[in-house]
Amino acid sequence: MTSRAQSASLEDKIYGCQRINNSEAASLFDWRLTALGRAADFRRRAVVPEQHVGFILDRIINFTNVCRAECAFCAYHARAGRVAAYRLSTDDICARVQELAEAGGTQVMLQGGLDPEYGLNDYLEMVKAVKTRFPDIWLHSFSPAEIVHMAEQSGKSIDAVIMALKDAGLDSVPGASDLLVDRIRDKVSPRKLSAAQWCDVMEGLHAHGMKSSATMTYGMGETIAERMEHLDTVRRVQDRTGIIQAFIPWSFSPAQTRMPDISAADGIDYLKTVAISRIYLDNVEHIQAGWLTEGLKPAQIALAMGADDMGGVLMEETVVKATGVRRTAHMEQFIDLIRNTGRAAVQRDSQYRIIKRF
Ligand code: SF4
Repeated sequence: MTSRAQSASLEDKIYGCQRINNSEAASLFDWRLTALGRAADFRRRAVVPEQHVGFILDRIINFTNVCRAECAFCAYHARAGRVAAYRLSTDDICARVQELAEAGGTQVMLQGGLDPEYGLNDYLEMVKAVKTRFPDIWLHSFSPAEIVHMAEQSGKSIDAVIMALKDAGLDSVPGASDLLVDRIRDKVSPRKLSAAQWCDVMEGLHAHGMKSSATMTYGMGETIAERMEHLDTVRRVQDRTGIIQAFIPWSFSPAQTRMPDISAADGIDYLKTVAISRIYLDNVEHIQAGWLTEGLKPAQIALAMGADDMGGVLMEETVVKATGVRRTAHMEQFIDLIRNTGRAAVQRDSQYRIIKRF
């Protein structure tokens, strides 16, 4: 078959809402941005026909930056002489949750480094303290890496840790997945969980009826085939579990990390990655535009290229800020920016139910 015929049949598959394979998805990186964006927007309308864009009022509370993993791509963890160590007390955490609740926020993401001083009980006490004082706040917290850390610290299985967290009041877990390619993980985060362990955590969440998400940090020296390997793992896990509510691709920010020689991915790469994620991940309902790492304007364009959600209007964020990328957004900015795409802005909760229309 000629490449023109191949491209035509791929177009038929996409507009016929059929599943595409890895090599077909990889070939989409060669498509013109406009054609790719149109195809991804078509697929977005097929999955999310409502003409609105959601956002959530939330707060990320990074409660410790002490981390035994010391990933090369991370500017956040404490490093002697460069970034001072801190740990937040339970009172500090609850005071921050109180501010969020007073501002009308609905979701808290507690996330920290893999701190050797934290045992499973410390995490359970943190969850209980927040849920006892703020039962209406949704705790979408920790990460697969932290769950594996809790299992290692306590000598319990991943399954037992998830059950204990759920019993303590944890509602869901963001599926922070970096890049699920062991060649890259061995280079940049050898002490963090493996791709197989990430899958184990997702299966464990599924067994306990908990929802999650998945992310992709691309631009860390991977090939397009390896990027597809990541998307393939996410799609397979979702086929088995159905727990991934949203997928959030974002580009790696090399500043302040131990990978300064890597050039940051550009805006075209970001938009193509969003569009291909929408087309390839036919079993994930929501694709989020990553305004925090990419900026508000590229995120706004992503809404026309497959994304249907803006994620959180964050009250606090420390991890991306540590790379020197400082972005803030107000709810009014979100609403205007969404309206200018021709769609309506809605505030949603953690289960993607609409709380308020604008
Ligand atoms: S990315 Fe997470 S696990 Fe890796 S060093 Fe940073 S805080 Fe630790």
